[in-house]
Amino acid sequence: MVDREGSRALEQVVGQDESGRLCLIGGRCDSCGEIRYPYRELCPIDLGEMRRHALSGHGVVYEAVLVALAPSGFQAPYWVGYVDMAEGVRVFAPLAVAEGAPEPKHGDRVRVEFHSFGDGTDQFVRPVFHQR
Ligand SMILES: [Zn+2]
Repeated sequence: MVDREGSRALEQVVGQDESGRLCLIGGRCDSCGEIRYPYRELCPIDLGEMRRHALSGHGVVYEAVLVALAPSGFQAPYWVGYVDMAEGVRVFAPLAVAEGAPEPKHGDRVRVEFHSFGDGTDQFVRPVFHQR
């Protein structure tokens, strides 16, 4: 379940790349090239202007945790984790684990996909990392 605030938050981190595919949106500094996620207007290094930057979607699991007790609106158990993206930023997101697949662990290569959820009037997409 995502309220309006949650919907706006997702719009800040999910966008489209040049080919129109869904992607995670970070920021890239015009002056020093620093990449940050999520997007922010000013670079924390030199206060240069940052532009929206489509992340590749490829990364490596830094840490994974099985959630056994879910908050309201979610069904446990499910995996979440930190993923170190190819661009050098760390993203926290759900991890998809196929039936019978080994548990995710540090060093696993993953790729982001976008899952739709919500009811008929409020549909959203959220990033979920899949093992490659
Ligand atoms: Zn900068």
